Amino acid sequence: MAFESLSEKLQNVFKNLRGKGKLSEADVKLALREVKMALLEADVNFKVVKNFVNSVQERAIGQEVMTSLTPGQMVVKIVNEEMVKLMGDETTELTLKPGSEITVIMMCGLQGAGKTTTIAKLAGKFKAKGKKPLLVACDIYRPAAVDQLQINGEKQGVPVFAMGTNHKPVNIAKAAMEHAAKNGNNIVIIDTAGRLHIDEDMMDELIEIKENIHIDHVILTVDAMTGQDAVNVAETFNEKIGITGVILTKLDGDTRGGAALSIRAVTGKPILYIGMGEKLSDLEQFYPDRMASRILG
Ligand code: GDP
Repeated sequence: MAFESLSEKLQNVFKNLRGKGKLSEADVKLALREVKMALLEADVNFKVVKNFVNSVQERAIGQEVMTSLTPGQMVVKIVNEEMVKLMGDETTELTLKPGSEITVIMMCGLQGAGKTTTIAKLAGKFKAKGKKPLLVACDIYRPAAVDQLQINGEKQGVPVFAMGTNHKPVNIAKAAMEHAAKNGNNIVIIDTAGRLHIDEDMMDELIEIKENIHIDHVILTVDAMTGQDAVNVAETFNEKIGITGVILTKLDGDTRGGAALSIRAVTGKPILYIGMGEKLSDLEQFYPDRMASRILG
């Protein structure tokens, strides 16, 4: 279960706070030091933790809390509100163009992050909404990637546009746009190369696609289980190509939760969906408030 240890630690801190009745400034500071430790142990970005604890402290050491009848409860409420804010406050919807207009989504991410699986999951969601997605195989470096996309497309009953591995990704993407227009597809999801490491060629290729085709959403898939590495990957992709949102995969296996709590604050870009399992139905919309409730219990 995600966030298990963080949840448990925070709940202990809160139990102590609630049990105290009146709170002194020192009580609040001590409790927040424990919150800070718990967040750092959950692999939340150091700067994010610092800012978070400062914001909570500023509000919690105010008159309103200290003189309240249930000060412990009020501190918990502030932690909750600041945590929701940290993750972006509102749910960010992936906006789709109406009718037959084509929404173009470019999916990027490192190999193994769960990109291909996520594309299939998204395609299923769009299809269920009555949309007509087309998946585009632009990862020309691994023939297996093209096959995998085709297999996933078949599972979801969604067409896949592929031209093998001998064409430039930008040209495949251009041809796919024509294909989509001819065949009435109103969502095009471009699968791009997933390398083991971020490299310049990979970034240049993504930039080339972006410069030649009107892309509506650049979505990065990152593996939650890699913690702060996922956050660093997101920061780099955002700096180099500009992403519009993140899908955090494998949150079902992430016991710490650091990436989920850090990505928005570090990159300024929202988490759109979370991957909660290997099945093609295991993709959930991301709700900052529900996530905070899940963490805080
Ligand atoms: P890609 O190289 O980025 O295209 O990654 P894949 O889509 O091939 O996924 C790599 C592995 O991660 C596969 O075994 C997937 O089943 C698994 N995977 C993807 N998303 C999730 C998820 O949300 N939860 C879990 N538990 N596994 C996932």
